[in-house]
Amino acid sequence: MAIWINGNLVPKEDAKISVFDHGLLYGDGVFEGIRVYNRRIFKCKSHIDRLYRSLDALRLTIPYTKVEIEQSMRDGIKADDLKDAYIRLVVTRGDGNLGLHPFQCERANVITIVDSIQLYPPELYEAGLAVITAKRIRNDPRALDPSVKSLNYLNNIMAKIEAIDAGVLEAIMLNTDGYVSECTGDNIFIVKDGTVWTPPVTAGILHGITRQFVLDLCKKLSIPAVEHDMKIEEVRVADEVFLTGTGAELIAVTKVDHMIIGSGKRGPITAKLNQAFRDTVETNAPED
Ligand code: PMP
Repeated sequence: MAIWINGNLVPKEDAKISVFDHGLLYGDGVFEGIRVYNRRIFKCKSHIDRLYRSLDALRLTIPYTKVEIEQSMRDGIKADDLKDAYIRLVVTRGDGNLGLHPFQCERANVITIVDSIQLYPPELYEAGLAVITAKRIRNDPRALDPSVKSLNYLNNIMAKIEAIDAGVLEAIMLNTDGYVSECTGDNIFIVKDGTVWTPPVTAGILHGITRQFVLDLCKKLSIPAVEHDMKIEEVRVADEVFLTGTGAELIAVTKVDHMIIGSGKRGPITAKLNQAFRDTVETNAPED
């Protein structure tokens, strides 16, 4: 496996950074997770744009253009000769001293890892996931904005631990106002009376690339869709619930806390969107 690190493709064993890197010491950095379908980088431009928005939010600059970052991914895919892959872009503040001062780090470390994909078990896409509502609330955007995909994921990890303790794979997180925000690694949608509904970006969420793609699919398929604040009680009595994310794609949720959702199986609108998603990425995954 070849890893692109600061402009060079090197074997995995040689892809190393310093213990003084502020990504390690303080979670000071950003990342992206991206899928490759049939050698096409799904929503490549959107992911690179989001990476640069996260960098700007943290006042982190890198010595590479968006074109060079895209090329790093294409080089990695070619080197490993992968048809389908998962790409992780990582940018850290770089090597500094043991103090917090971010601008004493001389140069960001920029890493592109092209790996194979690990997915939820296929049977879960039919049966649906069970999830819980986490007690841990999602970061307040005034403290650390969830729209910044930073290397500091402890807020999500603490909620994920609650999910694991409860014997499920995901947890819904509420925001400081008590509304639903998102899950630890996925955005959330519900379906009620034929309308698809997802929390707005003002609820304090990551602006999921898959979320936007699914909203665009709804438009294409003439399925009404709204972005509106949502209470957890509304999730529990929804006809359908599903999650979206780069890894999960689009997966049904059939149990929230103690409540069975709808018929207890993947619902018809979720199935329709799932099929449209798969058809699109398998035939010609959009790179915009
Ligand atoms: N929310 C969080 C907290 C995430 O980490 C992710 C990405 N795994 C998502 C939502 C989904 O975003 P995307 O569709 O861009 O992968």
